[in-house]
Formats: sequence, C-alpha cells, structure tokens
Amino acid sequence: MALLSFLGAIQQVTGSCYLIETHDGARVLLECGMHQGRREEESDNRAAFAFDPKSLDAVVLSHAHIDHSGLLPRLVALGYRGPVHCTEATAELLELMLLDSAQIQEKDAEWENKWRARIGKPMVQPLYTRVDAERTLGQRAPHPYGETFEVARGVAVTFHNAGHILGSSIVQMDVHDHGRTRRLVFSGDLGNVCSPLMPAPTVLKEADVVLMESTYGDRDHRCDEDTLDELAEILQQAHRDGGNVLIPAFAVGRTQDLIFHLGRFYQEGRLPQQAVFLDSPMAIQANAIYHRFHEQFDAKDRALLRSNGVTKVEDWLPILRCTPKAEDSMAINRIQSGAIIIAGSGMCNGGRIVHHLKHNLWRKECHLVFPGFQAQGTLGRAIVDGAPTVRVLRQRIAVKAQVHTLGGFSAHAGQSQLLDWVKHFDHKPELYLVHGELEKMKVLQQALHDRLQWTANIPEPGEQIAL
Ligand SMILES: [Zn+2]
Repeated sequence: MALLSFLGAIQQVTGSCYLIETHDGARVLLECGMHQGRREEESDNRAAFAFDPKSLDAVVLSHAHIDHSGLLPRLVALGYRGPVHCTEATAELLELMLLDSAQIQEKDAEWENKWRARIGKPMVQPLYTRVDAERTLGQRAPHPYGETFEVARGVAVTFHNAGHILGSSIVQMDVHDHGRTRRLVFSGDLGNVCSPLMPAPTVLKEADVVLMESTYGDRDHRCDEDTLDELAEILQQAHRDGGNVLIPAFAVGRTQDLIFHLGRFYQEGRLPQQAVFLDSPMAIQANAIYHRFHEQFDAKDRALLRSNGVTKVEDWLPILRCTPKAEDSMAINRIQSGAIIIAGSGMCNGGRIVHHLKHNLWRKECHLVFPGFQAQGTLGRAIVDGAPTVRVLRQRIAVKAQVHTLGGFSAHAGQSQLLDWVKHFDHKPELYLVHGELEKMKVLQQALHDRLQWTANIPEPGEQIAL
C-alpha cells in the first residue's frame, strides 16, 4: 500500500512538502517549499529533510512560488540528482525565483557573518548558493498541461491549470501499487476566478484522495469591481493628499495583475498619478515570461488587450517605468508625490520595498496598499495589524501613512471558490486541508460540513496516511 506523508505547509501557509512512497519502492516528493515568516519557521529551512534526498526518484512541483519550490537547491546540495517535473512556464519562472532566493541566502549569511566575526562567533554557511540553484535548474523537466507522464515506477503525473500564477498547476498523481491504482489530486494554490490574466482552475471529477489548499478558507474575497473601485478611490485620495502610493507585491503574479488593472485605469482616464514605477528586477523579468506565454492568459483578457492593440500587459500602461538598476531605484526616493511604486517583497520582509517604506511610511500623506495576504511574523503583517512603529532597516519608524488592504486582489481562491472547485469531485473522496493557518482551516472544515456535508481532515505535521 502506498504512503503519503504530510511534511510541510501543514497547519501553516509556507513550506509545502509531501512524500509519496509505494510498496514497490517508488519515492516521489511533491513540492519542496521554503518556510517563510517567523524566525523560528525560517530556521525550519535548516532542519534535516525527513527523508534521504538521494533516495528520491522524482520531484513534482505545482508552481514556481518559493513557498512551494524554495528548498529545491538545498535538496540538490544534499545529493538529489533526479528530475524536477513542472509545467513549461513554471520551468522558466523557477529560474528567476531560485536565483533570487540563492542571492538572498548568500547575502543573509554574509551579513550575519559580519557581526559574528565581531563577537568571535563561528561563521555560518548560506542555506544554499547560486551554484546549488544553477545545478537545480539543470534538473528541470518541463511538461505541457494535460500530458500524462511517468515520474517513477507506477507513478504517473498530469498537470492541470490551477489559474493561480502563470504555469501554476493542480497535480494529478496516479499511483499504481500492489495491483491497484489510486488517484491523488493536489490542488496546489488555486487561483481566484476574479483575478485577471489567469483562467479559472480546471475542474476535476475523479480522485481517491484530495489535498486542498486553504489559505483563504475562512472568507470570501470581495469581487473585482468593488476592489478596483476601492483602489481607484485610494489613488484619487493619494493624489489629493499629495503623497506617493506604495504597493508591496509579489514579483510573479500579483505584479502582472496590478499592471493589468492600472493599465485599465489609465485607458479609462482614472489614473491621476504621473508615473508608475516597477521597482523589481525580478518582476520586470517575470513580465517578459508572462508575455512569452500570453497564449495561456484567460481568453476574455487576451481579447481585451488585443482590442486595445496590445499583447503585452505593460504596453497598455505607457506611464510604467521599469527600474532594474539600483541607481534608478534610489532615484525614486527623491520623488515626494505623484508616484505609484510597486516593489517586492510582497510581505515587506526584504527587497526594495523596505527602502521605499523608510522614505514614505512616516509621511501621513502617503498611502500603503497591501494587495495580498501578510503572513504572521512579517513586517507587512505588523503594519496591517496596526503597529504604531515598526523596525525598517534597523531603524524604528512611525507608521503614519494610510494603510489599506485589498483582499480582492488575492491570487488565491476564497472560501466559496474552494467549495465550488472541490464539489465537482464525484463520490466525495478523502479530503485533507493543507497550506493554511489552523484557525482558517477549521472555518473551511465547518463550511465543507455545513454546505457540502463533507468531512475534511486537518493533518498533523509528519502524519502519514495510506493512499
Ligand atoms: Zn503560490
């Protein structure tokens, strides 16, 4: 009988990791995500894997986000030499994500070693290096959506579009063991049907076991038009207040959605600002990959762009200025008003956004717009939770800017959308909730019970089930 082990993103939202082992000896790792957020969660990244990386036959990846892919270079550094199966667009985005992550790891270790040297403490090694990330990239095995391929003896995988970010997939895994085949469906991160560019998540009907994400299991997002009106109003208010607008956003997914929305405002004459800065080298590169795969965009949005004579999302926002170079980024600091600044990281725990926070957060005429979820323990969460002061770049700074959270821009399905997706499965397969904070999972579990009469399980970290 095959076994499934719940190793990561169990009762939390980062560090996705599941192991599938068959009696015939096949060992497949589904996801190899990094833990993000609190320091103690991040220290989990250095813990030993619960399995020998050399013993794996294959790794299967749902999408490129770091909380699903970020420990791959560590897996490779510890001896994994097999393929990393993913979709074609994920393979391209992975290059951006892993090289960026390796650079952060190297810089973090370098910074820590500076103070360690001063107090005579032993040096630390980076979690992984650029060399490890490059080696990982050499092990990518891209596949189109809908193609079924064998990843290990008796284990076949098919990717279906999850509509979350470019290349994102729902992973269907057919596990043949001891004369019977069981189908595992892992939702990956399911897209929000209201968000632009990506199509709705593919509906599947057959499964024996379903793992479903539950990031927003406790609530519904407001739908697009309301959220867009709210954003338009914030931009008008910022214009009247004479300040800048900062938008911390994930480079892949959220940023492209925002550019799409701002482009629409611009075309409709609803954008009072004179400039939109995209201050994220990774987001700028991600735009190019989005453009290469624009055939995968939602048909309705593709038609809208085409009717305006463009295929590139950024072409219908002519006031967009990309600032890949550090000196161009620093020049933005001199602008006191009239700018929209989109920068990473999405949760403010690093990246160029922290410099812009330093220059704008203490100014009451500025506006800070969070277009997405802020995990516990991040600077973004502290600001959203109303901290009067926060530490930014080792300085304490007053939070005087007006802070807004726009839940509707999430790239994740809300509660009703999760129920809508899962209810299509015939015969109510065994259902496990993963990738969510415990309180939110419990709310979703109750909703599944009340609305679909379906009992969902919330696994414990390290729990194993028979497939
Ligand atoms: Zn994701």
